[in-house]
Amino acid sequence: MTAAWELAQNGAEVVVVEKESRIGGLCATHEFRGWRFDLGGHRFISRNGELVRRVVGLVGDDMLTSERRSVILHGGGQYRYPLAAEDLARKMNVKQGALAVGSYLQARLATLLRPSPDVSFEDWVVSRFGRYLYELFFGPYTEKLWGVHPSQLSADWASERISLLHLGDAILRVARLKNRNRPRTHARRYFYPRRGIGQVFEMMADEIRHLGGQVLLDSDACGLERDAKGRVRGVRCRNAEGQEELISCDQVISTAPLSLLTRWLFPNDGEIERHAAALRYRSVRFLNILLNRSDVSESTWMYVSEPRYLPTRIQEPKRRSPEMAPPGKTSLMLEIPCNEGDGTWRASDESLYQKSIEDLQGLGFERIREDTLGYFSTRVAEGYPVYDLGYKEHQLSLLSSVAQAPNVLSCGRQGMFRYVFMDIAMEMGIAAARQVLGNSAWSQAELVGFRTDKQLIEAQSMTA
Ligand SMILES: Cc1cc2nc3c(=O)[nH]c(=O)nc-3n(C[C@H](O)[C@H](O)[C@H](O)COP(=O)(O)OP(=O)(O)OC[C@H]3O[C@@H](n4cnc5c(N)ncnc54)[C@H](O)[C@@H]3O)c2cc1C
Repeated sequence: MTAAWELAQNGAEVVVVEKESRIGGLCATHEFRGWRFDLGGHRFISRNGELVRRVVGLVGDDMLTSERRSVILHGGGQYRYPLAAEDLARKMNVKQGALAVGSYLQARLATLLRPSPDVSFEDWVVSRFGRYLYELFFGPYTEKLWGVHPSQLSADWASERISLLHLGDAILRVARLKNRNRPRTHARRYFYPRRGIGQVFEMMADEIRHLGGQVLLDSDACGLERDAKGRVRGVRCRNAEGQEELISCDQVISTAPLSLLTRWLFPNDGEIERHAAALRYRSVRFLNILLNRSDVSESTWMYVSEPRYLPTRIQEPKRRSPEMAPPGKTSLMLEIPCNEGDGTWRASDESLYQKSIEDLQGLGFERIREDTLGYFSTRVAEGYPVYDLGYKEHQLSLLSSVAQAPNVLSCGRQGMFRYVFMDIAMEMGIAAARQVLGNSAWSQAELVGFRTDKQLIEAQSMTA
């Protein structure tokens, strides 16, 4: 969408082909009986000032800023998220504290005596926090989120997503031997549109149409037509009635999953098939509960690490914008990870709701059943690209195959098979559009290296 926006603003003729009946992809917002739900509550932050100005300019007075307050619900208590050193120190008893410090020192000693690179997520966490904290928090949460044992997940994910440096750093902060407020690794303030994150992309679609572009919904791209030189000359699409049409084009920017795009480009190619089949996504079901009360909690996100509970996160959408629920009412959204086609993916809304009510009670939420006015679920098949130990080889092979097609660029979270947030996906869209507009240096390679620095994006993000 952002690529199309950039192209349309620069006078190019664009057609956006979207298979869903609403715009926004993972950033869509669903409306139901006056309540609104994102696909997992989103927030917009970016360290790119130009992007922030453009998005805020687009949404105008409907852009709100909110403060993030997130907690981890664990063992009947609440810990601040991201894990805060003071909080850990305060809430652990002496025995737990001693075990944590002892296992951290053991891990540091092992690293000093036998230095070795962190290959898996487990290696990464254990060498920085010790096995005790790994088994208490990081391991169970990670296995629940990804459905894969942390020893089988690449360390890439940990280094991109965990903000504390290591337990030693945390201890120094608690002991006031180091400034407690630095580094500020997680942005507290963030942008959020009044009517849900999808409003950004609905407004973008309006502007694209206003500039003469087309945004086709319920239009499932199912193949590419290439000429004798390998250039794509059209995209085959199936509409809601199942009829196929060919949309001719001279250039394609794709945010469809990388495995799908490469299968279109190289049908019946055994090597492509091998790599494409190896890339897996973790799916998510969102259980959305409408409530006849004004508030549930003060938190933006509540992380649930224990495996006995279904959700990994619980959110109250009204904490982002008051318009996510009618006046005097609120809602809860439970994020439930699963694999496409498994029992959780196929479970009825009713059975998910019943299990979730038990979980909510166990986690200390009172009277949710009594206050329920309704519930429904939404699903995403491609929620999280799974960084298993072998993913990089498959990802890079497929991306270099795309680079052989002269007029196709793959970008975005699914298109690059990268765990990026919306701001980076949008920046990639702008970069891809600029390559097309410049017509000269169109290169997939540039997009492959795009913002691959390990630094947490949140460290320098800006909001208001
Ligand atoms: C639970 C969750 C919470 C998140 N929270 C945040 C957050 O707070 N902040 C943040 O910045 N990011 C967040 N993200 C990440 C954010 O959603 C993504 O980074 C962003 O949506 C990626 O945009 P994209 O366009 O690359 O991919 P997508 O949003 O997946 O869009 C791809 C689009 O391509 C369409 N498509 C695919 N195949 C076809 C086809 N064959 N034909 C036609 N159309 C097709 C899809 O329908 C979709 O609309 C979150 C993600 C998840 C899963």
